[in-house]
Amino acid sequence: MSDMEGVLNSNVQSLPHVEEEFVDSDYDMSSGDEDYQEVMNEQREKSRGKQAGDLSFAQASCVTQGVGGGDVSESENDESDELLTESDSNGEGHIRFAEFNEEKELYNPRLRVGMVFRDFDQLKKACRNWGIKHRFQLWFPQNDKKRVICACHNKKCSFRIYAAHMSKDNPSVQIKSANLDHSCGKVFSNFHVTSRWLATKYFDKFKADPNWSYNGIIKQVKDDQGITISHMKAWRTKNLAMRWVNGDEAEQYTKLSMYAAELRQSNPGTTVILWRDEGVFQGFYVCLKPLKDAFWSGCRPFIGFDGCLLKGIYGGQVLSAIGIDPNDCIFPLAYAVVLTESRQTWTWFMELLRDDLEIWNSKYITIMSDRQKGLKRAVEDIFPDAEHRNCVRHIYTNFREKFKGKTLKDYLWNAARATYVQRFNYWLGEIEKESLEARRWLDHQDRPHASWTRYILDARDKGIITMLEMIKMKSMRRI
Ligand SMILES: [Zn+2]
Repeated sequence: MSDMEGVLNSNVQSLPHVEEEFVDSDYDMSSGDEDYQEVMNEQREKSRGKQAGDLSFAQASCVTQGVGGGDVSESENDESDELLTESDSNGEGHIRFAEFNEEKELYNPRLRVGMVFRDFDQLKKACRNWGIKHRFQLWFPQNDKKRVICACHNKKCSFRIYAAHMSKDNPSVQIKSANLDHSCGKVFSNFHVTSRWLATKYFDKFKADPNWSYNGIIKQVKDDQGITISHMKAWRTKNLAMRWVNGDEAEQYTKLSMYAAELRQSNPGTTVILWRDEGVFQGFYVCLKPLKDAFWSGCRPFIGFDGCLLKGIYGGQVLSAIGIDPNDCIFPLAYAVVLTESRQTWTWFMELLRDDLEIWNSKYITIMSDRQKGLKRAVEDIFPDAEHRNCVRHIYTNFREKFKGKTLKDYLWNAARATYVQRFNYWLGEIEKESLEARRWLDHQDRPHASWTRYILDARDKGIITMLEMIKMKSMRRI
């Protein structure tokens, strides 16, 4: 096992490296824009929630002298929304200024004199976003290591922000003076709304819906920002966001070996196998100890096999083995994520399962699976003596004793051949129209394929570790 881990770890570098691939084609980006890593960190921090906000607040110095940033207590952090301004000096030189809270205010900054920023980049980001939010086009006529002046693009406008380091000893950046009133009119385009800015802002949305249409993106930006972006910009935005989403998933795969080790440690006796071929991910197999034990304590000598497609960027399939407990309830025996469903991957899965369940004589086992050739051949290879039934044929044998006629028979087979849940449900609906009784009878049958597949459907469009964890939780609940 340790050899395997060694191989796995040494192969981690060969996974796609997003940063190298990343070539910025956006002509209108300024040098202060975030790089990939920063965007990813932002997303992570966002998901970590309030805790992360407190942390970044505590790390930044918000006291002019005497007390370092690290000394800010938690109770003070909670009041960060109502920090004192310059005039609230307590008379001992300890002045607390409002701290820019990137977590909360990134897209709706409330700029004011005295406000403190981590650095000039953060200040410029806040200014740009303030401009986008309030529909003014801002720029930085002075922009060096010591000071930044932010002004309105309309030269006659009196809007100004002047920012510099807090003091000689304190590199934090502070707004020293400002005139936040514009004497100009609002604009309806903004060169700061770059594809990168949009990809960052809507990262979660792209992640949740990789098929988000260009028209949908354009409409959302119009609704949120009042700006009409071009089809080209929508395309560039999506392109960039999807590369980040993919990078996120690639990173998840590299974390798989850590997840495997953790699973083994927290569930002693559990089998976890991570299969890679020349550094390329092939499969991840899990057979949880309690499920393994359950198989031999009163379960029927039955194994059902099923595969279901994954919706993530990487594609892939979930293979699962299902058992039936004494109460006729189905429960998973083992599951795996593989890149492709084939005779080879099914054989790999079944061999591991056979060893885990210690099935040395398959004579007493009944196997149920659907018609796929790869699956059928793998069953013949690994469980040569088992009774192998087609799931639907088995149900149909019982079905026809109660319900006669070709129409119902055809509908049942159509349902069985359905590769989508919607299609499956459609044919169940047709059966119901023909005979409500038949439909009810079907609902009370063991339909390991349909029901288990549907059971994990809501997990399958997640990142691989999230998904494995969800399937694990669902499996555990069945014990
Ligand atoms: Zn202006």
